[in-house]
Amino acid sequence: MFKDLFHKRKYATVPSERERSDSQERPKRDIPEGLMNKCPKCGTIQFSKELEKNLKVCPSCGHHFRLSAWERIGMTLDDGRLSEFDADMISEDPLEFPGYAPKLETQKKSSGLKDAVVTGTGEIGGFPVVVAVMSFDFFSGSMGSVVGEKITRAIEQAHERRLPMIIFSTSGGARMQESILSLMQMAKTSAALAKFQSDGGLYISVMTDPTTGGVTASFASLGDYNLAEPGALIGFAGRIVIEQTIRQKLPDNFQTAEFNLQHGQLDRVVHRKDMKSTLTRVLDMHAPVKEETAHGV
Ligand SMILES: [Zn+2]
Repeated sequence: MFKDLFHKRKYATVPSERERSDSQERPKRDIPEGLMNKCPKCGTIQFSKELEKNLKVCPSCGHHFRLSAWERIGMTLDDGRLSEFDADMISEDPLEFPGYAPKLETQKKSSGLKDAVVTGTGEIGGFPVVVAVMSFDFFSGSMGSVVGEKITRAIEQAHERRLPMIIFSTSGGARMQESILSLMQMAKTSAALAKFQSDGGLYISVMTDPTTGGVTASFASLGDYNLAEPGALIGFAGRIVIEQTIRQKLPDNFQTAEFNLQHGQLDRVVHRKDMKSTLTRVLDMHAPVKEETAHGV
């Protein structure tokens, strides 16, 4: 009998990328899907289009919604253009971990990605850069051998082309289905960065919600500049694990970007609307000095 009360849905949920692409083939409904969006922090309901115009930041409380890799590329790179590296690299499931192969297939379909990072070269504020942009919607942004390899290759490309490297991190940590092959990526990416940075390469790390585990404990924390989006969860082990280990209650804002900034783990917390201009300013400061002609033109 309660069924009728809830017959008409007042607000639709946001469809996934796949559902969005499928939606054109479906018959039209009374209320279009994905029209409204509810902020998980303050509960404000707003039009999805308005939210997108606001760079997916809640206008009421400033909550930064998570972005997919391509959404971030669209917002950050000039004209949203990226010349992609290693677009077809996929995991081989080398350990034949039970259930991993079918899960990889599901993740590919739901996210439209082949793994949890997109790498390539483009421009920010007119400055050429190499970027690696992680996506939480693929396997919770976990770092397996593909993520590590693509990021390492991107760093090597930046090194070879003498371009700045920018990594946007978001990750639940190492991908346990790849076990030691996943953990090895921490050392591999860190070694590539050390080589790049000791040769004068500029590396900017941007941590977004959430950046945890093996990613925090490797490349995400190694920037010449370590930036983060407001409210982002940044840490290694989870709060419960730490509380149980040290037998102490942790502060409410523990492992937020702001807490990390206060304790010297970050250089700056940057609002999404200011991210591109901040990156441009840093790139400008480190840009090679252009040689002037004899006439000073
Ligand atoms: Zn909000």
